[in-house]
Amino acid sequence: MTTTTTIAVIGAGIGGLAAAAALHRRGIDVHVYERGDTLREQGVGMHLGPNGTRLLHRLGLAGELERAAVRPEALEVRAFHDGSLVARQEMGTAWERAFGAPYLTVHRGDLHRMLASLLPAARVHTGRELVAYEETRKGVTLRFADGTATRASALVGADGVHSVVRRSLAGDEQPLYSGNSALRGLVDAAGVPGLDPTQMYMFAGPTARVLVYPVSGGRQFTYVVVAPAPEGHAESWTSAAEHADLSAALDGWAPQVRRLVGAARDVRRWALYDRAPLRRWSTARTTLLGDAAHPMLPHHGQGANQAIEDGVALAVCLAEAAPGGDGIAAALARYEAVRRPHTTRVQLGSRDGGGRGPGKGVRDQAADVSWILAHDVEQSLYDEMSGDNAA
Ligand code: FAD
Repeated sequence: MTTTTTIAVIGAGIGGLAAAAALHRRGIDVHVYERGDTLREQGVGMHLGPNGTRLLHRLGLAGELERAAVRPEALEVRAFHDGSLVARQEMGTAWERAFGAPYLTVHRGDLHRMLASLLPAARVHTGRELVAYEETRKGVTLRFADGTATRASALVGADGVHSVVRRSLAGDEQPLYSGNSALRGLVDAAGVPGLDPTQMYMFAGPTARVLVYPVSGGRQFTYVVVAPAPEGHAESWTSAAEHADLSAALDGWAPQVRRLVGAARDVRRWALYDRAPLRRWSTARTTLLGDAAHPMLPHHGQGANQAIEDGVALAVCLAEAAPGGDGIAAALARYEAVRRPHTTRVQLGSRDGGGRGPGKGVRDQAADVSWILAHDVEQSLYDEMSGDNAA
């Protein structure tokens, strides 16, 4: 990689910022273009698996995560009708030891802020919505909605589930509605006595599944209720829902769940759509990352974790690339070869992760995803490269 190489990342979500931070850390000239007028993340809480946290630690965020995130001690499955304990999976230090890094729950805004802090402000350009791009043998020209244009050596589409770059690269698609939507929000932990903010909870009933986990150092809970809903709602963090929808979905449920419903204020809805894995992510100068590359149902809690893995993998491949256009093309091809099979497996597994009943959930979930949580994409790439060099 030469000093004249410039990488343009479209989208300052968790994936785009993680990629830019990993590239910047390796001395690569990177610019992020975000359509929003300010840098902010809309969602509520999220899970960070050890596969994601080990990479965030190496980016320098261990201390910040320690302060803002929570390391849940356990996941408890509770009966939906009376809240009694069905099964308990110890997490905390047990999982940290097993997977080599902690499993954390964090407010998305906190993680987003941490990632943004790893980049000089001049590298992130807000109010720049990509509308088109042209790729030639010499590089990529980016065109924005405000009429401006810029050039880069390579383009990374980290522009989310409705990606403009994906549409251009892979064509139109047919998202399939899953029949469910996710109702979600935040409540003050003090407003839900009976739920301990050092733990995660799952209540799985016949018509809905409720996941509750602590964020913001344990001061708040995020809840996610996956329940059937008619098609027609948006796939967006900003789409509002009625409190009555939440209340109706959980009518007659355990007292802890009813208290949570009582404490909920601003309820949001994300309609859950499924998409087939892409057959191709990259050309010689353009590639995709995060939800733009592999939009997935959220049942494994892995979309953002996979986006972070993508970002670090891309940075490793580009940092090791030979100079010039052929070097960039080879790096993007290597990135795709490493990431696409892995994320395809996660994407397809996430489809099946949605339908578990109570009791089965904990053990199956831990067994199902251990190969995902144990993965160290950065180390495996370096191991592969040192093997290549030795051969
Ligand atoms: P996004 O976060 O969508 O970011 C894309 C960015 O690109 C945005 O800032 C957008 O404004 C910008 N943009 C879009 N178009 C343009 C354009 N044309 N020009 C410039 N900028 C543009 N994942 C987990 O890992 N753990 C969880 O616990 C988890 N829970 C989830 C729960 C639910 C209900 C859902 C729906 C998803 C969940 N996910 C979870 C998935 C996770 O939210 C996503 O995978 C992740 O946010 C994707 O990040 P991204 O950066 O690829 O995309």
